[in-house]
Amino acid sequence: MKFNRWLRSINRTSRQTPEDRTAASRWQAPVALLLSGAVASGAWAQSVAELENDAATPEDILTYGMGYAQQRFSPLEQINVDTVSQLVPVWSYSLDDDRGQESFPLIRNGVMYTTTHESTVALDALTGKQIWKSMLEYPAETPRVACCGIVNRGLAMLEGKLFRTTLDAHVMALDAQTGEQLWKSKAIDFRDGYSMTVAPLIADGVLITGISGGEYGIRGFIDGWDPDTGEQLWRRYTVPEPGQPGSETWKDGGDAWKNGGGPAWLTGTYDPELKTVYWGVGNAASWNAGIRPGDNLYTGSILALDPKTGDIKWHYQTSPNDPFDHDGTNEPVLADMQIDGIERKVLMQASRNGFFYVLDRTNGDLLAANQYVKHLNWAEGIDLETGRPIDTDVVIKARAGEKVNFTPSAFGGKNWSPMSFHPGNQTVFANTLNMGMDYKAVEPQYRAGVFYFGAEFGFTYPDDERGFLKAINPMTGESLWEVGTEIPRLAGVLSTGGNLVFTGKQTGEFEAFDAATGEKLWEFQTGSGIVGQPVAWELDGRQYITILNGGGAVYALFAGDERLANVPAGGAVWTFALFGS
Ligand code: CA
Ligand code: CA
Repeated sequence: MKFNRWLRSINRTSRQTPEDRTAASRWQAPVALLLSGAVASGAWAQSVAELENDAATPEDILTYGMGYAQQRFSPLEQINVDTVSQLVPVWSYSLDDDRGQESFPLIRNGVMYTTTHESTVALDALTGKQIWKSMLEYPAETPRVACCGIVNRGLAMLEGKLFRTTLDAHVMALDAQTGEQLWKSKAIDFRDGYSMTVAPLIADGVLITGISGGEYGIRGFIDGWDPDTGEQLWRRYTVPEPGQPGSETWKDGGDAWKNGGGPAWLTGTYDPELKTVYWGVGNAASWNAGIRPGDNLYTGSILALDPKTGDIKWHYQTSPNDPFDHDGTNEPVLADMQIDGIERKVLMQASRNGFFYVLDRTNGDLLAANQYVKHLNWAEGIDLETGRPIDTDVVIKARAGEKVNFTPSAFGGKNWSPMSFHPGNQTVFANTLNMGMDYKAVEPQYRAGVFYFGAEFGFTYPDDERGFLKAINPMTGESLWEVGTEIPRLAGVLSTGGNLVFTGKQTGEFEAFDAATGEKLWEFQTGSGIVGQPVAWELDGRQYITILNGGGAVYALFAGDERLANVPAGGAVWTFALFGS
C-alpha cells in the first residue's frame, strides 16, 4: 500500500510526461550543439552537470549503475506488474565472444555503447544495428593474471569521449562518434599480476579507475587520470608503505605490505554535493592472515576519497586481518534515508563477509550492520560502538593455521553482481549466495604474476539452495521476500517504478519479479547464461529493458557446477519492450 502511494506521488509530482521528456531531449541536443560551439563533438557533449543528473533523467544512461549513487533504479513504469507479460525482444546483437559478459551498457541520443574484454561497440539503440566496433589487442599471456573471468564491466563517458580499461592494465579513451582511440595509458605491468576489468568513474572532472589482482599478491591502488590527455593525476595505494598512515596496522615487521593485496576492482560511487568518491577495497594477500598480523589497512575497507587528489577523507574497515577473501570491493550504494526520524545521507554495502552495512557517508559513522545471508559463522555480529566484527572461533582458528569450515564462502554473501536500491520503499534487491568453504592456511610463496593464495580450500554446499534473490531491509538485514535457486544467480539487479525487479539466471533466463512479493511474473530464455547488468531506458515514449547475456566468469570457472556444462556460450545484447507499445 505504502509503495503504491509512493508511485502515485511520483506521478503527481513528475513535471514531465514521457512525451514531454522526449520532446525536451530532442530540443536540447541542437541547443547543446550551439552552446558548446564544438560542432564536431557537440551532439555528443556530456557535461559534468548532465552526468550528475543522470539518475533523474531515466530516458538515458550516462553513468555506471544508472546514476552516481548506483541505485540501479528507474522510475519508468510503462513496463509494470500489469503489462510485463507483454514484454518481448525487440532486437539482439551478437558480441561475437564466448566469454562471460558483465558489461554495463550506456545509452545516449539513441546510441548504446558497451564492451567486451576485446571490443567496444556503438549500436543504434532502436534497431541494434552496429554503428562502429573498435577492437583492442592485449598480449596473449594476459589471461594468466585474470583470476576470475576474462571480462570487462563497461564504460564512462564525458564530452564526446568514452573511457574503458583493458585486461592488460591500461586505461584508454575512444571517440564516441567513431570508436577511434584518442589515448591509451599504462597503469602498471600486468606481468606482475595486475589486471583491469573495472568500468571507470568520472568524478569532478577526473577519470578514476581501480586495479584487480588480489589473488596475485599485488599492492592495490586507485588512480586519477586527466580525461583529456590520459595523464595520471594521482595514485592512492590501498596498502600504505612504512611510515604512512595505516602502516602501523601491518605488524609483521617485514615486507608483507609489498604484496598486501587490496585490489579495487569494482566501480565506486560519487556524491557531487560532498565532492566525495566512495570505493571498496578488496582482500588482503595472501589469504593467510597469520603472516600479516594487524588490521592490514586499507584492505577489506570502504574509502571516502577526494576525487581531485585521491586523499582519504575517511575509511571504514569491514574485515580486519581477513583470512577468507571477504573482498570489500562490493559497490557502496548511496541513498538518502529516514533513520529514527532523521534524514541521513547513507552509504550501503552488502559485503562479501555476509553483513549489510549502512554508514553515514558524510563521516563514515556506522549506523547499522546486520547479517543478510542464511549462514555466517566467522563473526557473532558487528560491534556498533567500535565498528569491529566480534570474532568467533572459526576465524581465530583459521588465522592460527587450523582447518575450518567457514560461511559465507570466499564467493561472499554477495559477489560482485550489483544490487538495486528502490528509493520508494527503501528496499534493496540483491542476488545473494549461500555457500561455505573448507579452509586451511598454508605458507605462501610469492612469485610475481602467480597465484598467491596461501591457503588450501574447497567449496561446501548447504542443504538448501545455493543462491537467493532477496528483498532486504537495509537497516535490519532481514528479507522481506526471497527466491531461491539451485544454481545461484550472479547477474546484476534492476528495480523500476513499474514495481518490477529484473535479473537473470546462469542458465539463460532473463526474469522479472513483483517487487512487493517476489512473485515471478515473466521470463525469457536468452540462449546463454546471464551474468550481466540489466538497465531500463526510454526513447520516443517507449520504455526498453536491456541486458547482456553470455555465461561464464567466476562461479562457472570455480564452483565446478556440472549443471552449467551444457549451457551454450556466446554473448549478445538483448533489448526488450512491450509488444506494440
Ligand atoms: Ca539519465
Ligand atoms: Ca579476492
